Amino acid sequence: MSGFWQRSIGLISLILFSAVLWPIFGAVYALLFFSVVMLWSIIQHMRHIAKLEQWLQHSDHTAASIPEGFGAWDDAFAHLARYVRTHSQSREQLSLALQRMQRATSAMPDGIVILDEVDRIEWCNPVAEQHLGIKLDLDIDQQIIHLVRQVPFVEYLAARKYSKPLILNQTRHQKLVLLLQLVPYGYKQKLLISRDITRFERLETMRRDFIANVSHELRTPLTVIGGFLETLSDENDANPKLNKRALVLMSEQTVRMQHLVEDLLTLSRLENAQNKIKEKEIDISTMLHDLQMEAESLSNGHHQIKLNIATSSRLLGSDSELHSAFSNLVSNAIRYTPEGGEISINWEIQDGRGLFYVQDSGIGIEPEHIPRLTERFYRVDSSRSRETGGTGLGLAIVKHVSNRHQARFKITSKAGKGSRFRIQFPAKRIITPSDQTTQAVAK
Ligand code: ADP
Repeated sequence: MSGFWQRSIGLISLILFSAVLWPIFGAVYALLFFSVVMLWSIIQHMRHIAKLEQWLQHSDHTAASIPEGFGAWDDAFAHLARYVRTHSQSREQLSLALQRMQRATSAMPDGIVILDEVDRIEWCNPVAEQHLGIKLDLDIDQQIIHLVRQVPFVEYLAARKYSKPLILNQTRHQKLVLLLQLVPYGYKQKLLISRDITRFERLETMRRDFIANVSHELRTPLTVIGGFLETLSDENDANPKLNKRALVLMSEQTVRMQHLVEDLLTLSRLENAQNKIKEKEIDISTMLHDLQMEAESLSNGHHQIKLNIATSSRLLGSDSELHSAFSNLVSNAIRYTPEGGEISINWEIQDGRGLFYVQDSGIGIEPEHIPRLTERFYRVDSSRSRETGGTGLGLAIVKHVSNRHQARFKITSKAGKGSRFRIQFPAKRIITPSDQTTQAVAK
């Protein structure tokens, strides 16, 4: 039987029963009975409608909170409960899927912003908050261009050319360089993906600067040599005095280029992570005596060079790398200390750690330059550096050698008074005389 006839059985029974009553009790009683039952039925319907309305307005809309009904309403409420149950199940599944999606996108290293058809923020992950200076709680439904105001970004968004990414210097909260890419999806929605390329850009700038610096360093000696060669080839009558002078200057420039290339090769070896240090026990005392002799020949009697060796402890490290670092510091001290100045080369143990330092009474360095001295080609006074044969790479080499030996490199200086360059080696690299005896006995 269909639902309609099932629902109509009550009404049909009432009409039939009233029709039977009519001949027995008369029309008035039959109609009165019919009206009373109809009235009761209408009141029942109104009661159920009120219950339904109340449920719709105030309840939490769970299946358990659906009111109980009577007759046809019982069926209707049972259907409603079934519908609410399935609906809430799929809503739960949907919200779980959404949570999973948000967790996954939150874990991504890239920033993700979901924009609606008029570029308002619908959602973003924490990385995007950090990249673009967004606070999702406050900025939801805000136009993205109110938060990322840089002109290139506003133009990029307006152009709607999604194939090309945009490189943006984000300065609102921090100095970040971001790669931004818009990806259209759904109904006029967009994903804005941001990637932090600050490190990459910095490396790229360093690479560009490095090439520019090397080219600049090589250009001067090459120009000098090229100039002389041109003059010599143009000259008909050889002038032996001039030729001799030209040859001396050309060989000076050649030496300068050789030093530059040697330092560049040393730096490249030190920077190569594959190139592990060849460690051995180094007798620092012997190395520093050799270094003092080299320094005296470089100074040519113009400075007083002292050697203070307070320990016979040896150092575990690379012979060639440490010699290169120490000799760079000693030659700098000579080059930046005027005639008559004092230079000391020192080796001692401090709190179990090995301390090598070079102290000079030279020209010193203004404090603002100190943090940048280990950058490649950074010089306080370029002409003085070049005149004295400097390549601008010495302290960069010292820093790399220190790092490779887990040592700390520190510069302290007073302009006009002198400087101290110290390398502090960790205790694990120090071999004390008692260790040496134990090893000798064991052998
Ligand atoms: P350079 O070949 O120019 O000496 P370095 O890397 O060895 O290159 O040093 C970088 C700069 O640090 C030098 O150009 C110089 O300005 C400064 N400097 C280094 N050592 C000293 C020192 N002992 N006294 C004063 N300035 C120094």
